[in-house]
Amino acid sequence: MDEFYKRMKQLLNESYDNFIASLKQPPYKSFYLNPARNPSFLDKHQDTITPHPIVQDSYYYSEEYHPGRSPLFVSGAYYIQEPSAMLVAHYLDVEPDDYVIDLCAAPGGKTCAVASQLNNQGFMLANDISNARAKILSENCERFGLKNTIVTSANPKSFIGLLDSFFDKVILDAPCSGEGMLRTTEQAEATWSEDKVKECALVQRQLIDIAMTLLKPGGTLMYSTCTYAPEENEETIRYALSHHQCHLVPLEKSHGLMPGIKMEEAVRCYPHLYQGEGHFMAKLIKDEQGQTKRIKYQTPSITKKTRAVVEDFYHQHLNINVPKHLVDHNGHIYAICPQFPELPKIRILRNGLYLGEVRKNRFIPSHSLALTLSKDDVKLSYDFDEDDEDIKRYLHGETLPSRGGKGYGVIFVDDQPLSFFKESHEIKNLLPKGLRR
Ligand code: SAM
Repeated sequence: MDEFYKRMKQLLNESYDNFIASLKQPPYKSFYLNPARNPSFLDKHQDTITPHPIVQDSYYYSEEYHPGRSPLFVSGAYYIQEPSAMLVAHYLDVEPDDYVIDLCAAPGGKTCAVASQLNNQGFMLANDISNARAKILSENCERFGLKNTIVTSANPKSFIGLLDSFFDKVILDAPCSGEGMLRTTEQAEATWSEDKVKECALVQRQLIDIAMTLLKPGGTLMYSTCTYAPEENEETIRYALSHHQCHLVPLEKSHGLMPGIKMEEAVRCYPHLYQGEGHFMAKLIKDEQGQTKRIKYQTPSITKKTRAVVEDFYHQHLNINVPKHLVDHNGHIYAICPQFPELPKIRILRNGLYLGEVRKNRFIPSHSLALTLSKDDVKLSYDFDEDDEDIKRYLHGETLPSRGGKGYGVIFVDDQPLSFFKESHEIKNLLPKGLRR
């Protein structure tokens, strides 16, 4: 690790001591709001939150506030994300109808921020090479109530030949040596070595080649790392500039954000200058003409009989129509978007919105569906305050006394959907066991 500090001294010169002093300070904490949700709960927390000066609908929070412990976290009202990491989605400038791929997406901080800004014409393909991490990614997409997102677990090179020149935006939040996370992750210090920097730089170049292939001409690549090593940052970008027809776009800097090293357009975050952890970001536009592959799109596949079972449930319990494009994977029903591509041989963990399961001519709604509903969408609902004792019990997995309703309904917390319940003589708890606390 001595070598790391030597390198940082060389990099920072006179501000090195301030950098070292900042590492002894507690890290800044922040979250961004889910734009699909009602943010009225914020009023209660005004004393403990401060708006992020750059990123819209994002807040720093103080030590007295514990957003991760609130039922609102389980309901997907916000995503807790480190203040430097949230700049990536901010700089990406996504359009609602963009096709976006997040190549290294788990646990999903950038995916959720970007996918929640897309409308039904756009879509997100969120991928991670690690299956275990992709599962967490999929859970976070569920929590955020995303309908327009496919979650996969594949080596990013598997998309080559399948989705060439298809995406308007590629997010490449690359695996890196993690030097910027010294304050937040103990592992960052334990696993650092110069060899790791070199290995990561090599992988990053391979990922840059893949990202450029998947981008449409004129499309945007947002590259980021949470490390300071120039080999993994500016040198990776110089590799992109010399091996692909692309150019850099300048990123606006304020509030202590610094330019890249001999690369004005890029952004560096240092903890002694900006209120967040170490990060690097650069935005590239692809100039070259790419050959768009003929893309095969997914088509609905569900029998009339199965669709009727789903429709019957909607008719009885919801005030909305069944989505148009449904696919049936062995009784598991998903609502897809027509712009979803076919992904043969790719491991898919989530294909749009998982509606639920049809079993013996009965429809069992999924937790994912509950998290996309508003009070107007459901016939039966109960709304609780964030601090209500009953909601604490419900989160614990307990049933609640009946309030007189019958059938499926949705529990809301401060206007945010939390879970389906089923009521008869009591309110049966349908919060998935893995989410109980
Ligand atoms: N973008 C994520 C977010 O905002 O929540 C964080 C991504 S993290 C910095 C990098 C990810 O890259 C890890 O989840 C890791 O599993 C994945 N990864 C590691 N090696 C990879 C490789 N060779 N190709 C693609 N992804 C890789």
